[in-house]
Amino acid sequence: MQQIVLASRPDGAPAHDNFRLEKQDMPTPGDGQILVAVEYMSLDPYMRGRMDDAKSYADPVPLGGRMEAGGVGRVIASNADGFAEGDYAFGMFGWASHAVADAKMCRKLDPDQAPITTALGVLGMPGFTGWYGLNEIGKPKEGETLLVAAATGPVGSMVGQLAKAKGLRAVGVAGGPDKCTLATETFGFDACVDHRAHDDVSGLRDALKEAAPDGVDVYFENVGGPVLEATLPQMNRFGRIPLCGMVAWYNAGGLGDGASSDTLTGPKLWRTLLVKHLTVTGFIIANHWDRYGQFLKEVGPMVADGTVKYEEDITEGLENAPQAFMDMLTGGNTGKTIVKVG
Ligand code: NDP
Repeated sequence: MQQIVLASRPDGAPAHDNFRLEKQDMPTPGDGQILVAVEYMSLDPYMRGRMDDAKSYADPVPLGGRMEAGGVGRVIASNADGFAEGDYAFGMFGWASHAVADAKMCRKLDPDQAPITTALGVLGMPGFTGWYGLNEIGKPKEGETLLVAAATGPVGSMVGQLAKAKGLRAVGVAGGPDKCTLATETFGFDACVDHRAHDDVSGLRDALKEAAPDGVDVYFENVGGPVLEATLPQMNRFGRIPLCGMVAWYNAGGLGDGASSDTLTGPKLWRTLLVKHLTVTGFIIANHWDRYGQFLKEVGPMVADGTVKYEEDITEGLENAPQAFMDMLTGGNTGKTIVKVG
């Protein structure tokens, strides 16, 4: 079997020498465990944080340790009730061709109900994140305006489509004209601003103003950086900000100085929150799995009947995972980043 381990910690953006592909003996499952041949694995922005030796909500990957990832694959040996050889399972199998996992930490998948890759994106952790953050924290109301960046990714596209279904004006921010077309034509955003077309925050702010002429009531925060700077002044009073991620700053390592101008220094940020009566709530979706069943019940049928659409960006081969991961962090992906392993 093969796996990719963390060879060294990145200083800034990850590079190939931070990863190492290794061969290992095939593991055997213990009591209550299954052995899975991984078919697809997920690449997500949070993995960048796990590469730093920094205190966070989860422990870092140790040097020499297998990179973490959710994956889907076929059970090839089972010592656990509830899983038989040939079943499909989702679990945290890591960047690997095969994995042994505790069955109670895995979920059985029915490939007749939805393609198994959807368990990594639209019906998996990222889609669930969009659903949870929008509904529980964003508290969307018909007629309001929502803004979300990384709008064609698995989180942003879920947020935009659910907001539209609830009668909001949905404004996306995405990198490049092709992604903006995808946002409006496939995902149904009312408007999409190309953040790469503006070199400074004030140009971006003008474009966002035009796309959201009534201001922004819900800013679903995925990226931080210049998009945050351009959006905050346009928030309406009593606006809500589900603070989900800040991928623009991840490659800075820890909490870098990614803000591009002086508009977002502490006092100005704080004052904006005060005078606009804004509510900002951070959330880590791993703490909300108790709501996952409700999400699947509500959104599963919407995916099945095409009301909620999704896009997947599939790279072939475990050995190409580092490049796909590095590309995703800087917008090289279109849709949910997945690696076809087996
Ligand atoms: P995506 O698949 O959308 O990939 C990341 C995207 O971020 C890129 O494609 C790029 O899109 C965008 N991006 C990168 N750099 C910048 C930048 N400087 N400015 C603006 N956009 C940028 O990611 P996901 O949908 O998986 O995740 C979206 C966010 O949600 C991330 O911040 C992630 O960490 C967070 N998240 C948080 C969770 C939680 O529990 N709180 C759980 C899951 C995700 P483009 O080319 O369009 O700019």
